Amino acid sequence: MAEQTGNLTFGIIKPDAVRGGKTGAIIQRITESGFKLRGMKLIHMTHEEAKGFYDVHRERPFFGELTTFMSSASCVVLALEKEGAIKAWRDLMGATDPAKADAGTIRKEFANSIGENAVHGSDSEDNAGIEIAYFFSRLELV
Ligand code: ATP
Ligand code: MG
Repeated sequence: MAEQTGNLTFGIIKPDAVRGGKTGAIIQRITESGFKLRGMKLIHMTHEEAKGFYDVHRERPFFGELTTFMSSASCVVLALEKEGAIKAWRDLMGATDPAKADAGTIRKEFANSIGENAVHGSDSEDNAGIEIAYFFSRLELV
């Protein structure tokens, strides 16, 4: 794994965006914003795997909807490197609810609803490490 984990974050291009053919445009936005791709692959989570990933939200009313959605089709998982990666990636994603997302953010441009909101980003350095390890083996990270 990276020598400086503070500069790494984890992202997902969610099923709505992959299904909608937005993968290329979102990757372009990411790389143009100065992120280096350290890991990238297409996956299709089982419902159990989605529940494991979003375990922190298991008590939330939208947990069933969220995990069914996340296992409904393919996602692209990403390990992203940039100085201050956690905040930089969340800033580029925009607010959880695309209706509240700032102009120029990925969710403003590509997301349709609070549930199907195009991308995921880690919320802390610890969670970035956990989430990268959930999806990538050492050999899949450059
Ligand atoms: P993510 O963790 O996916 O990057 P986030 O950190 O902006 O998003 P969280 O509060 O962690 O938002 O919620 C996780 C995900 O759960 C959201 O991205 C969204 O897909 C879904 N979600 C959050 N709130 C709602 C809601 N009120 N109704 C339906 N789905 C929701
Ligand atoms: Mg979150």
